[in-house]
Amino acid sequence: MPLDEILSVSHVSKSFGELDVLKDMSLSVSRGEVVSVIGPSGSGKSTLLRVVNQLERAESGDIRVCGKVLCHNNENGQAIYSDKEILKNIRLSIGLVFQSFHLFPHYSILKNITEAPVQVLKKSRGEAENTARELLSKLGLSDKESAYPYQLSGGQQQRAAIARALAMNPQMIFFDEPTSALDPELTGEVLKVIRSLAAEHMTMVIVTHEMAFASELSDRIIFMDQGVIIEEGTPGEVFSSEHERTKQFLQNYSK
Ligand code: ADP
Ligand code: MG
Repeated sequence: MPLDEILSVSHVSKSFGELDVLKDMSLSVSRGEVVSVIGPSGSGKSTLLRVVNQLERAESGDIRVCGKVLCHNNENGQAIYSDKEILKNIRLSIGLVFQSFHLFPHYSILKNITEAPVQVLKKSRGEAENTARELLSKLGLSDKESAYPYQLSGGQQQRAAIARALAMNPQMIFFDEPTSALDPELTGEVLKVIRSLAAEHMTMVIVTHEMAFASELSDRIIFMDQGVIIEEGTPGEVFSSEHERTKQFLQNYSK
């Protein structure tokens, strides 16, 4: 195990009924690394993120986050989950940003960002608001703190969702197609924010179809298809891969 390993997924399997969505999947992420996950729709990318974030349960395998055991295989090859307290701790160490923002519609932007720090981390409201305002300023949303989500563009909503994730001071952030719901002209402003996080060495796992962006930003690219990792490597390696399935997939994205 590398010393700076922050996430370890080892032989994880997950199915929905008859459908094997993750098949004996293993991957590792080091602190400060930016890893992009690419692959066709239905290949299990979201399920992978959801299993690590405890939104779905693995049937078998070992998962560790920041050295803490999320689940481990018993002698029958079944995933045994750790106690509630450990699970909660792990959950709080990962920020999650979805395609469709998931802001609370009836809360102002400021309240969206301060609610979890106050309720879950037990921060004082003043402290939480100070942090939120710093984040809003950094993400170019200073004038939006009193606005409601519906008053913001999609790009602004997604930046607010990123601010909300950052307010929990996570060890790493997972993005699930963060720009897929956005018009092309709004995609750039969200990618810029993610780029600035990469420059600060935030550990990130990004599911994306933005190939140029993934190539420019990522330390490593993982190509998934049908619940398995077909290959992984540097952007240079994966984007010039000789692997038939990778080539076929990437052809859809070349101009
Ligand atoms: P991706 O994010 O790569 O598009 P997903 O992880 O969302 O893929 O889905 C992988 C497969 O699992 C798909 O065939 C999808 O229909 C199926 N799936 C995902 N979630 C569920 C669920 N809750 N119940 C049943 N099938 C699901
Ligand atoms: Mg998905």
